[in-house]
Amino acid sequence: MERSIQNVVIVGGGTAGWLTACVLAARRPDLSITLIEAPDIASIGVGEGTWPTMRETLATVGIAEAEFLRACDASFKQGSLFCGWVDGAPSDRYLHPFSPPPHGDMRDLLAGWRTSEPVMPFAAAMTPQAAICERDLAPRHPAMPDYAGTVNYAYHLDAGKFAQLLARHATSRLGVTHIAAEVTGTVAGSGGDIMSLTLRDGASVEGDLFVDCSGQAALLIGGHFGVEWIDRSDVSFNDRALVVQVPTEADNIIASQTVGTAHEAGWIWDIALPTRRGVGCVYAARFMNDAEADAVLRNYIAAHMPKVDAARLTPRGLSFRTGYRARFWQNNCIAIGLSAGFIEPLEASAIVMIELSLRALADNFPASRASMDIHARRFDALFRYRWERIVDFLKLHYVLSRRKEPYWQAQRDPTTIPPRLAEQLALWQDQPPSTWDFPQIDEVFSAASQQYVLYGMRPGETASAPRGRSDASARLADISERARTLVAALPANRAYLAALAAQPASS
Ligand SMILES: Cc1cc2nc3c(=O)[nH]c(=O)nc-3n(C[C@H](O)[C@H](O)[C@H](O)COP(=O)(O)OP(=O)(O)OC[C@H]3O[C@@H](n4cnc5c(N)ncnc54)[C@H](O)[C@@H]3O)c2cc1C
Repeated sequence: MERSIQNVVIVGGGTAGWLTACVLAARRPDLSITLIEAPDIASIGVGEGTWPTMRETLATVGIAEAEFLRACDASFKQGSLFCGWVDGAPSDRYLHPFSPPPHGDMRDLLAGWRTSEPVMPFAAAMTPQAAICERDLAPRHPAMPDYAGTVNYAYHLDAGKFAQLLARHATSRLGVTHIAAEVTGTVAGSGGDIMSLTLRDGASVEGDLFVDCSGQAALLIGGHFGVEWIDRSDVSFNDRALVVQVPTEADNIIASQTVGTAHEAGWIWDIALPTRRGVGCVYAARFMNDAEADAVLRNYIAAHMPKVDAARLTPRGLSFRTGYRARFWQNNCIAIGLSAGFIEPLEASAIVMIELSLRALADNFPASRASMDIHARRFDALFRYRWERIVDFLKLHYVLSRRKEPYWQAQRDPTTIPPRLAEQLALWQDQPPSTWDFPQIDEVFSAASQQYVLYGMRPGETASAPRGRSDASARLADISERARTLVAALPANRAYLAALAAQPASS
């Protein structure tokens, strides 16, 4: 009989490695799980914005919400606000919230929205979440059960503290073995599988399944197996980021969404945590040099955080490759995290891909080596689809822009637009984005996300005519009423998180 898969060895102790350890240990307590992390190789540690999936992930691994919020200096994220993406005018902004528009035919809703008085921004008409974000309110009341909200939400967090929390939880409560050592070699076994890893001190660690969470090093999937990297910089141009953490005063407001502000050759993220704002300038080296990006970042900080002396800050420069692996699961090795792929940080798609990979792996964990190749083929097909949909969705933000700078014009060059996206854009002139366009379970970016970006940037897109029996106006009026009720009842982010910080740690 085939030997069962019992020993899982994870290489890497960044967000991907520790999430893998926690999720697998929580979902499969029968497995023996070891995580090897090189103490001298830093993790990338950016990853400050998550997707709403993180609530289910944290609940699954058994971390209480208050413990998570406190330990990670975290705040609530309810979506992304895009400033300057359409034409760069001062009033140019739209929201992509996490709560979807109401159920029903989007054509009717579009008609109801366009004939309403006054015409609100699309997101404000479709969900009460826009009004909540506008006022920097929390998505939930403190008394609600963990991870429940009045609207859909995710988190902003300190990635370094998050990895530390997961590491403590994995080793002290979930029985994960932690080895602090550098992996320096791999030993192949039968059929090309990895049999064991060699550590710097000469020790060897055997396993049945190896998870490559070694980040950009991609030690196993790239180094050992040489699986090809599919480069998508032809579509997604950004390849550099300058990142800085700006300490903030405790009385400052905490925004409910990531703010992404376009600049001449990329964009700037601004993420508010209780004690700091994480700000990063994302740009394409082909269109902007590092000194120019540094000036763009400092100008942004000077304009938006006037009390901060921007000249004294020391931003950290990062380069990233855009693309993903031709295969994520090769033999007895599965790549999760940056080793599997990365498309720029717009819309925070990296950590959610880690979570989705873990959901797929834990739901379909191979019982023995015999079934592993079947699982691998299915996993590869699913995740190739998902990476391509991320490429399309991020490109949508650029294609719809009317900005005039060379970078933005190049983004709209038809030769850089993926054929499926080009087709969808043509269809969306006649019909709204729908599940016919995004039919998979667990689409990373659903039809609702596409609608928020499409009608946020192009309110007039898609012809719509009111139908005889539509109740869209009444449904939109309900949303406005619900927004008024929630705004009156929800606490501000700052008040919620300050009250939490003041409580004793066990409560
Ligand atoms: C500019 C930027 C902004 C981002 N923003 C977001 C965001 O807002 N939201 C989001 O979801 N994602 C974001 N990401 C992506 C996110 O940071 C990563 O996907 C996430 O942190 C996972 O990284 P990782 O664990 O795969 O790799 P890393 O964090 O790089 O970890 C790699 C680990 O491997 C270990 N290692 C390497 N070599 C060896 C070896 N030889 N032996 C043993 N161990 C080894 C290292 O010690 C480290 O622990 C961003 C990324 C960038 C570049």
